[in-house]
Amino acid sequence: MPHFIDVILPIPVENTFTYLVSEAEYNYIQKGMRVAVPFGKKKVYASIVKNKHTNAPTIYEAKEIQQILDEDPIVTEQQLTFWSWIANYYMCTEGEVMRAALPKAFLLESETVIRLKSDGLVINDEELQDDEFLIYEALQHRSELKVHEVMDILDKKKILPSIQRLIDQGVLEMQEEIYEQYVPKLVKFITIAPEYDSEEALPVILEELSRAPKQREMVLTFFSLKAKTNKPISSQELQKASGATASQLNALVDKGVFQTYQKRQDRVGFEGEVFETKTLNTYQATALSEIKTHFETKDVTLLHGVTASGKTEIYVQLIEEMLATGDQILYLLPEIALTTQLISRLQTYFGERVAIFHSKYSVNERVEVWNNVLKKMDKAQIIIGARSALLLPFRDLKLIVVDEEHESSFKQYDPAPRYHARDCAIVLGAFFKAKVLLGSATPSIETVYNAQSGKYGYVSLKQRHGNILMPEINLVDIKEKSRKREMTGHFSDTLLRAITDALALGEQVILFQNRRGFSPILECNTCGHAPQCPNCDVSLTYHKYRSQLRCHYCGYNIALQQKCMACGSTDLTTKGFGTEQIEAELKELYPDNNIARMDSDTTRGKYGFEKLITAFEQEQIDILVGTQMLTKGLDFRNVTLVGIMNADSMLNFPDFRAHERSYQLIAQVSGRAGRTEKQGKVLVQTYNPYHQILQQVSSNKFEEMYKEQLEERRNFKYPPFHRLIRITLKHRDYQKIDESSIWLSKALRQTLGAEAVLGPETPSIARIRNLYRRNILIKISRKQNLLETKKTIGRVVTSFNAIAQYRSVRLVVDVDCY
Ligand code: ADP
Ligand code: ZN
Ligand code: ZN
Repeated sequence: MPHFIDVILPIPVENTFTYLVSEAEYNYIQKGMRVAVPFGKKKVYASIVKNKHTNAPTIYEAKEIQQILDEDPIVTEQQLTFWSWIANYYMCTEGEVMRAALPKAFLLESETVIRLKSDGLVINDEELQDDEFLIYEALQHRSELKVHEVMDILDKKKILPSIQRLIDQGVLEMQEEIYEQYVPKLVKFITIAPEYDSEEALPVILEELSRAPKQREMVLTFFSLKAKTNKPISSQELQKASGATASQLNALVDKGVFQTYQKRQDRVGFEGEVFETKTLNTYQATALSEIKTHFETKDVTLLHGVTASGKTEIYVQLIEEMLATGDQILYLLPEIALTTQLISRLQTYFGERVAIFHSKYSVNERVEVWNNVLKKMDKAQIIIGARSALLLPFRDLKLIVVDEEHESSFKQYDPAPRYHARDCAIVLGAFFKAKVLLGSATPSIETVYNAQSGKYGYVSLKQRHGNILMPEINLVDIKEKSRKREMTGHFSDTLLRAITDALALGEQVILFQNRRGFSPILECNTCGHAPQCPNCDVSLTYHKYRSQLRCHYCGYNIALQQKCMACGSTDLTTKGFGTEQIEAELKELYPDNNIARMDSDTTRGKYGFEKLITAFEQEQIDILVGTQMLTKGLDFRNVTLVGIMNADSMLNFPDFRAHERSYQLIAQVSGRAGRTEKQGKVLVQTYNPYHQILQQVSSNKFEEMYKEQLEERRNFKYPPFHRLIRITLKHRDYQKIDESSIWLSKALRQTLGAEAVLGPETPSIARIRNLYRRNILIKISRKQNLLETKKTIGRVVTSFNAIAQYRSVRLVVDVDCY
């Protein structure tokens, strides 16, 4: 009887594929192992085994596999179930989920580029097997090879295992974007020279150093530190403990008493001191016990705690109480909030039990974390990560914390799977019977709704830790200010006075400029022309610093024009304003202060983000101007003033979540102010101070905002009452996008009902990277069967794709779109 396996291929094909295996292979193979399989004419992929059986496929003749790549499964059965759930729910393929889940190093395939490892491991040829040697030798002549080229060179197909072994041995590496090591910090450590490392030697050194009391003291401090701990002693630690300077330390190194060595602080490991967790204040303690009570009957609980109420300390307690069980804990955060600030905070409590899964990690590091989670190692008991950490191979997950649960960056936008990490966390939690704690100062409408309807537990925490007052939020009417000529550039006199006062007291200031809708553009005063991107339907953005006009969607750029390209006039002005302009204005207004800017331009480089945060923490920066990035749970002690340059652009953004988001953003940036004794101050500049959202956020009326927004959602059929699925069509040809989108919307209306389908609509940016776009929005009521509706949509999409002239139109289906 022939034996078969079904495998998931890491490509967007709808079905699993069936391959033929021998009986011995069949017995060896377990679900979740990788198997190299041929696909199409020439391709080879590492696939994941999903099923084993003895039923030959009826449509095609099963091909043989090439080779089994693993000795043990690298993917758990639990994950396979989860992948399949994600694929069904988000209307994508399991292969796409697999691609998102697996670290790239697991995805060896024919197009993968390999090369010798850059740190030039010298190897003994004789230790290599024949194939391995041939590959090694080929790479002596060529700097890199694609896997399929290696197949040609060796004239055989079964080569992936050899390549894998060479990678495992550290001889080869796969090409990847050059990721930065996350914290490749070199730390200088001090040891005592061996000849002095004994009790008898000590008096001798002390005698020698009798004329250098500071150095003497340092040696004594070193021995007392050494007696206390068997951990290596860093130069910093020694200096701190003995109060000595670097040059005094160097003198001892020069005398040969001390020796130094550099060590890379381990990427995953942690050698610092571990501290006791903080004792909760009474409000926190009450909140924690409420959370635990809810967990007795509910799987999900929302912790709604104002900024600086100490939510993190509550998570920490909850985690600590679970630690002894040995079960795994997942701590999810929006990518950008994954700063060293939070990581080191958790590491000081939990030491090396904390593992970090981060997109900034190199492929190898991610494999390391993957394996540690899979093997349930102690050093990966607590996993902190962004969105994709959800896809790790957990064994016994018992708690998931989703911090800043309202953050829209939990939703993956592109490519598929377009999943929402918070929502998936709840599903994953249910698979494991784990408890899920959602935390935020400004929870999403959907989550609060689920809490109010009793589906989730709800715990509220209204006091900031240490009874620090909530910041005082004041609205500044800039329409009025302009009329009275009390504006200097984009600053009202009120804001300038507050900045001046704060700086005079040595305090720091944050200024927030929303990214959306306010990019500066260059406009001609004579004819009104503004330079456009040739590939996208947007005006080019003016970048003063580089003296350029750039497209934010495709990167197209030209040098700044001196003359209008349409009429030749030199009378040009910039319209709108961004962070760069505010920074420039500030530098003129406050020439003696240090001013920095945090946005996607200034944080792109190596550690740009971390560096800015550290500099600001260390008070090397007086005023920090920034975008959304500033809102993400950062904790700066010395900030007393937050200015919001203009609240209107976010309020007027055409999106049903715009009001909710504006509230969240303003409340979150405001939360950066006054986190110590002094009450923080927030000034919100706006043309429309009577806007209900501004009124609500300035008086901290979350409930009121929630009720109003919920009513709007109900009236206009939005979540949480209706589910949304957006289909975006993209094509180069205007005519075709028009026709095909009309066809698709009609077909959807016919099957789902006219009520349920909106569009086709032209999005606010009608063309990006030369592709025209149309959106169709489907609203599904809670009464409708979601699965059936998705199946129906799937069938319509299939018949769309079957129409020859539409086949080149790209369809993107986004379930629960944002
Ligand atoms: P949130 O996450 O709610 O914004 P954090 O957890 O960052 O608040 O806490 C704000 C600050 O208060 C942090 O610096 C934290 O160390 C401190 N803090 C919170 N709870 C306590 C506590 N029980 N004891 C001592 N310090 C605390
Ligand atoms: Zn002109
Ligand atoms: Zn463009």
